[in-house]
Amino acid sequence: MRAAVLKNKQFIIEEIEKPDLNSREGAVIKVNGCGLCGSDLVKMFTGKAKDGDVLGHEVVGEIVDINSKTEFKRSDRVALGHHIPCFKCQYCLNENYSMCRHFKSTNIKPGGFSEFIYVTEEHLLNTVFKINDNVTDIEASYMEPLACCLRAVKRANLNQYNKSLIIGLGSVGMLMGAAVNALSKDAYGCDIKKERVELSEKYGFKKSFILEEAEKTLTEMRKIAPEGFDVIFLTAGASSAVDFALKTVRDGGKIVVFSSIKNNNSFLNNDIYYRELTVMGSYSPSPNDLKESLNLISTGKVNLKQLSTLYSLDKLNEAVSDTQSNKIMKAYIQI
Ligand SMILES: [Zn+2]
Ligand SMILES: [Zn+2]
Repeated sequence: MRAAVLKNKQFIIEEIEKPDLNSREGAVIKVNGCGLCGSDLVKMFTGKAKDGDVLGHEVVGEIVDINSKTEFKRSDRVALGHHIPCFKCQYCLNENYSMCRHFKSTNIKPGGFSEFIYVTEEHLLNTVFKINDNVTDIEASYMEPLACCLRAVKRANLNQYNKSLIIGLGSVGMLMGAAVNALSKDAYGCDIKKERVELSEKYGFKKSFILEEAEKTLTEMRKIAPEGFDVIFLTAGASSAVDFALKTVRDGGKIVVFSSIKNNNSFLNNDIYYRELTVMGSYSPSPNDLKESLNLISTGKVNLKQLSTLYSLDKLNEAVSDTQSNKIMKAYIQI
């Protein structure tokens, strides 16, 4: 079967062995498509992924072979998450599912940038979900990234009075706004790109700001949130976003860190202490978040139309460079 195999920070289309059940429990899934995630790019360019790896985890496909005690059957169309928590360890008991060592050790192999993948029985039991007929493959491919955002919003524990600011309006920022609106209300956004600011308002942001000169933007923001925003979701990859988060959060507010940044710019101890700030991270979703995410997509509570640009598997490298250069919001690789 064909797969995009990583070699020297490039994807090369190669013939690799098609996964088989071979009397194992689990299922073989024919991949219909797979979203390209920012974390795939990070893995590619920081060396976290090795030559020979096949990436892609925002998978949508159809079960073509199955040996399982679950109710899934052949020809079921499914979306899936790739990591499974154990639900028993110290991390899981404290709801830090994505820190669970079992979570980190489970994955799909090969990844979704291939024609077929194998999922274990444990995946079928926990992180694989049937897609309703009214949901397109592309919409369903947002199950995992939207679930990541739902988890971040839940961790921020918003109340009805909170105003949230999302710094960075790439696809993740848009999904974060959708998650804020689904679970609470009043998502505001900011980005350096005018098109993204305009797009975000179409996606239900109450208002978004173009980040030209910080002081000018701050003056505009103060008209809406005079003391600053209650919660900041940091989805931008620029290290200056950290400083901007500190300028826009109110005293006593929360900053949810949701992206990695190059020079690891940090929050200062005395800001956190004197301003009574809460700085927290949120990384990856739990099976419950996945389920809730697909449910929001299926019921139309989250609108994801027009976010994706389609590429064929052969054009995966082009999808990577278009994502890097911000030419597109989000790539969906049709297999
Ligand atoms: Zn992802
Ligand atoms: Zn665990």
